Amino acid sequence: MPTTVSTQMVQNPAAWRNLRKGLAGTVGFVPTMGNLHAGHIDLCLRAKAENDIVVASVFVNPTQFNQASDFEKYARTLEADRKLLSDAGVDYLFNPDAADMYADGYSVKVSEEEIAQELEGAFRPGHFTGMLTVVLKLLNIIGADRAYFGEKDFQQLLLVKKMVAALFLPIEIVACPTLRAESGLALSSRNSRLSPEALAKAPLLHQLLQSGMDNATVMKKLEEAGFKPEYVETRWGRRLAAAWLDDVRLIDNVAADKQQEEDHAAVSGCG
Ligand code: AMP
Repeated sequence: MPTTVSTQMVQNPAAWRNLRKGLAGTVGFVPTMGNLHAGHIDLCLRAKAENDIVVASVFVNPTQFNQASDFEKYARTLEADRKLLSDAGVDYLFNPDAADMYADGYSVKVSEEEIAQELEGAFRPGHFTGMLTVVLKLLNIIGADRAYFGEKDFQQLLLVKKMVAALFLPIEIVACPTLRAESGLALSSRNSRLSPEALAKAPLLHQLLQSGMDNATVMKKLEEAGFKPEYVETRWGRRLAAAWLDDVRLIDNVAADKQQEEDHAAVSGCG
């Protein structure tokens, strides 16, 4: 592992645009909110394999938090993040200020009025408008050829793809599978806030999503185990869920046909 940090940090949008003009070759972009883990790094490695230059952003976007406490408690670990990016061979880290990103005072917004209303959108009012607005700003600033998003945030991925198509943005959106701990728990920056007891319980969310049980039964099982589930729903070929464990909100999703396969296996008695 290299001990020096080679990833160059750029904090100002105008400075990045200036620098971008001098870059030759394809640029891959990985937007994040920091507190990086192996899931984020997986996206960076994919970007690295498919592009000449990789830039990651770390920006804890205030407009996509529907609870002030969640925004305040969000772990900020910029130096450690930069080291991880450097070890992964990421060339640039874009880390803007909220004042630069929202010089308009968030008076200009991007909203979607269909899929942004359900599931995550229903439980987190304003979340997707904040997310789409910041993603559009970041895509416009960075000027990448490809941007990498995780299936972990499946509804977000759908919305970003939809925005890119609707607004004719000249970029390819690349979807990356969810990276999980050995327990099956989807890696997430919020996991670092789970108590040891909650961390031991959390993998049940993924286990139940993958089981052949129907959505209502999964909700009931989560409640019995001490979760506070918000939804377990099948949409877009996925089974998706959100549930609170103590004061941490977990989300996850799996391919719905995986569940159906297991249903079939259960009925036919094989597998
Ligand atoms: P975040 O920092 O949580 O906003 O995530 C930044 C990007 O990393 C998003 O595209 C996420 O979907 C993706 N991501 C987060 N966790 C994972 C994971 N466990 N596996 C794959 N991608 C992830």
